[in-house]
Amino acid sequence: MKILLTNNDLNEALLGNSNIGFIPTMGSLHKGHISLIRKSLIQCNKTIVSIFVNPTQFNNKNDYIKYPRNIKSDLKILKKLNVNFIFIPIKNQIYNSKNPIKIQLLKKDKILCAKYRKGHFEGVIDVMTRLTKIVKPSKIYMGEKDFQQLILVKRFIEKNFKSKIVSCKTIRDKNKLALSSRNLLLKKNNLIKAGKIAQNLISFKKRFLKKIISKKVILTKKKELKKKFNLNIEYLEIRNKKNLQPSYKIKNSKIFIAYYLNKIRLIDNF
Ligand code: AMP
Repeated sequence: MKILLTNNDLNEALLGNSNIGFIPTMGSLHKGHISLIRKSLIQCNKTIVSIFVNPTQFNNKNDYIKYPRNIKSDLKILKKLNVNFIFIPIKNQIYNSKNPIKIQLLKKDKILCAKYRKGHFEGVIDVMTRLTKIVKPSKIYMGEKDFQQLILVKRFIEKNFKSKIVSCKTIRDKNKLALSSRNLLLKKNNLIKAGKIAQNLISFKKRFLKKIISKKVILTKKKELKKKFNLNIEYLEIRNKKNLQPSYKIKNSKIFIAYYLNKIRLIDNF
């Protein structure tokens, strides 16, 4: 396992390698990240994982400061997995004055998280562009846990680079809570609550598999969750899986939720 800290280190290490699998992460690795890495280890000649808490995708400075960082345990996990390369750049390796990029979302894409986290996906696409340019991977592994991110990054990267985005299923804990680095910021009672919310929406989806879900049904569900779990819900919406347009049936669609538990913002989709 080689640890690479600079773009030069990375260029040197990757020289002559083909079929590179890349897993971009912000660290605090969990079984969700591990599932992406395992897929790359199977499908690619070399696997590179990056750990970079990207400041430009945080619309809230405090959120960036509080974001969990656990580099020691990350390295332990990556070593055990036998990953070939780990890229841990400092900010000026990724962002320097020579390479400004201007990303603009289309109006139709300013929905779900893009509506509530101004500049977030612009920051994500920006950093993904920079990382893809340096790593030049054949495949980039990304999780359905961040479904809107997956759709937007796939569209942008596959249009501009040869790299293919490989989408990977959401990994959940035994209570159905989607694994997330941010879960480390939650107290035990809120972890339990978040699991119950996931279970609630999974059974809601099952109940409506073959029925139309009207706006009223969604609104009632939102009110019920708010009251039952004392939640601040940012959005609860059903949207088509391919184009993220509003939908009223489960077939080909997903239920998307974003909510706050004790000031920690969680997202999920079912
Ligand atoms: P992050 O470190 O949160 O930026 O995530 C890095 C990658 O791991 C992204 O493509 C995420 O969608 C993916 N990921 C995060 N959590 C999960 C999960 N529970 N299951 C599958 N993939 C995940």
